[in-house]
Amino acid sequence: MEKKIPYKIYLKEDEIPKQWYNVRADMKNKPAPLLNPATHQPMTFEELRPVFCDELVKQELDDDTAYIDIPKEIYNFYKMYRPSPLVRAYCLEEKLQTPAKIYYKFEGNNTSGSHKLNSAIAQAYYAKKQGLKGVTTETGAGQWGTALSMACSYFDLDCKVFMVKVSYEQKPFRREVMRTYGASVTPSPSNTTKVGRQILERYPGTTGSLGCAISEAVEVATETEGYRYVLGSVLNQVLLHQSVIGLEAKAALDKYNINPDIIIGCAGGGSNLGGLISPFMGEKLRGEKNYDIVAVEPASCPSFTRGKFAYDFCDTGMVCPLAKMYTLGSGFIPSANHAGGLRFHGMSSTLSQLYHDGYMRAVSVEQTSVFAAAQQFARIEGILPAPESSHAIRVAIDEALKCKETGEEKTILFGLTGTGYFDMVAYQKFNDGVMSDYIPTDEELQKSFDSLPKV
Ligand SMILES: *Cc1c(COP(=O)(O)O)cnc(C)c1O
Repeated sequence: MEKKIPYKIYLKEDEIPKQWYNVRADMKNKPAPLLNPATHQPMTFEELRPVFCDELVKQELDDDTAYIDIPKEIYNFYKMYRPSPLVRAYCLEEKLQTPAKIYYKFEGNNTSGSHKLNSAIAQAYYAKKQGLKGVTTETGAGQWGTALSMACSYFDLDCKVFMVKVSYEQKPFRREVMRTYGASVTPSPSNTTKVGRQILERYPGTTGSLGCAISEAVEVATETEGYRYVLGSVLNQVLLHQSVIGLEAKAALDKYNINPDIIIGCAGGGSNLGGLISPFMGEKLRGEKNYDIVAVEPASCPSFTRGKFAYDFCDTGMVCPLAKMYTLGSGFIPSANHAGGLRFHGMSSTLSQLYHDGYMRAVSVEQTSVFAAAQQFARIEGILPAPESSHAIRVAIDEALKCKETGEEKTILFGLTGTGYFDMVAYQKFNDGVMSDYIPTDEELQKSFDSLPKV
């Protein structure tokens, strides 16, 4: 007899995982190393130390240790908002009249409104433990900056955030949340850094991009005593911290012997997707189980589906190490019409390698269809989703509708990464019928591919 599955599967507090899982340990083809932009040699621990905290550099370079203990201080913070619920979307299934079973892991139950807090608290902890004064970072849509502000205030660290200008202007309330937690927030590109001034000269009137903001944050971190730079996505260390999502999801599913057929997540820099899929991907890599794993990206910023697998800069100012990843070129600046996050030109090198090796697939979706899914989900399941998360909702609904046609009873798991309360300007555009679907042309992409570094 199948046990009746509740609407929400909660783990107990002491079932929050005690260790993170490092999927690289099970990869035969490891993600390519970061390269020094000047010498094109792999970045060493010593070279990365001026930029990142020591412990985080170790995690970044560790391709072999499968499980890494979560320090007690981080675990205690996790207990304030975790475990996050795994929800059976009974109402959505009913509405769609699908035989598919739909589950989502909801990461929006904290003030930052997203999964980003899982890594922010870890990064702030290691900075504090090293005796640093503060950290610098960039933020796009604002969730990462908010999460980091919360984490820094908890550990009494200074926090300097460079916020992509278009979001700074569109989301004044995000900015105020960060300031409430004690962070300073500067719109990027700004004239407070050398690289910001250069970018402003080269692209006058630009509304900014994550790549620009990263360059500014790195410059300030490396030139200010007692500061390091932290990043909210893309890096191996961030995927490691986010594995808490997948480990919890798997533990909850295992309680009821539920085996997902399809696992879906939105992909900006790849951290929530990497975290959600990691224990499942581990099983797939070890040949124990098979899953259909799907990355969903915006058609306006299609790194996986139209990008090149190549070494590239992570930032527009070309000051960061080179990463081998699916990229649109570091000069690519997505259209300002594009409302959600997911604006980064590149992608996690771990996920890029897994995608390249055929362990997962990717689809791109257009903005208006994403918001249609967001609206439908809000009305049926109650939660107002973040635009980023809604990319995953779109594809989860599409897969459930396919099941309706074929009669297959597939089990679908997707990551609901956050809430959309600060994205009401985008929702307003959608509600007013003035939202557009901007898709870059091949010529535009070629232009930014032309500037890929020759490695
Ligand atoms: C940042 C963010 C994303 C995308 O980032 P990833 O690193 O790809 O996970 C998705 N959803 C929400 C709510 C976010 O804040």
